[in-house]
Amino acid sequence: MPQGICRLCKKNSDLKLSHFIPKFVGKWVKDTSATGYIRFNQSINKRAQDIVKEYWLCECCEQLFSSWEREFANRIFYPFMNEGKSEARYGAWLPKFCASLSWRTLTYVRSQNSVRSEEVSHALDTAESALASYLLGDSNTLGKYEQHLYPLEGMTETSVRGAPPNLNRYFLRTMQMDLLESDSASIIYTKLPGFMLLGLTGHKESNRMRSGRVAMGEGRISPRTYWWPTGFAEYMFDKVRAIETVYSSMDKTQKDKITKAVLDNPERFKASRTFKAFQHDLAMFGNSAFSKTNED
Ligand SMILES: [Zn+2]
Repeated sequence: MPQGICRLCKKNSDLKLSHFIPKFVGKWVKDTSATGYIRFNQSINKRAQDIVKEYWLCECCEQLFSSWEREFANRIFYPFMNEGKSEARYGAWLPKFCASLSWRTLTYVRSQNSVRSEEVSHALDTAESALASYLLGDSNTLGKYEQHLYPLEGMTETSVRGAPPNLNRYFLRTMQMDLLESDSASIIYTKLPGFMLLGLTGHKESNRMRSGRVAMGEGRISPRTYWWPTGFAEYMFDKVRAIETVYSSMDKTQKDKITKAVLDNPERFKASRTFKAFQHDLAMFGNSAFSKTNED
């Protein structure tokens, strides 16, 4: 096991192989897919067995994260995704879980790309330490680093213009991490199947967005009117289109592998959540849904 500095608590220790998107989420996507594989946009011509992971955390911090993950998986993720529930009560574990996801996305994205200016970089350093001190229990509030969690359901109609015809598949199936950099306030973006998390770093519309804000103590998730920040829908639609473009560029061997997997096991395909999500797109967008592919 490699030794190093734990990214969260900064202690020198044995480091564990940590998943950025929680492992149970990657497993759920694989288990409910049409073919049993997942792919990443960065390496579309390879099937993957697992989601991205790095030696990032010490044993202690890894344990801390997994206790909140377990609560989220059992009380929210599985009931919503497998049983069609749309309401849940939560405790202090939810803001912790959300902050841990945002922290992971932030540290991962920054390890892959350099940000565009000194100013943004400095603001993100501050965000990273604020999240870390909340996660480690050194502070019991997040201040302006609010976590906004949006449950996403399969839609059959939309009032949002310009929605791409693979939108439901994106909502229900895609995992993604990104950083929307801005000089005034960046947004840390983590996409899970059925959920979207925005980690704010101070945002002028945070008051208008309050229906999505995760409370620091107990609270309730339920169907309600959620507000996205201005420009966010367009940003997200671009992401959705980009995925489709990447899939269209997949080479023929890989496309044939998918077709073969479906033909070899049509029952699995019909029962899969990949197919269900596609049916939502078909209902909402008609035949144009056919030309778009998001995943195996
Ligand atoms: Zn640690």
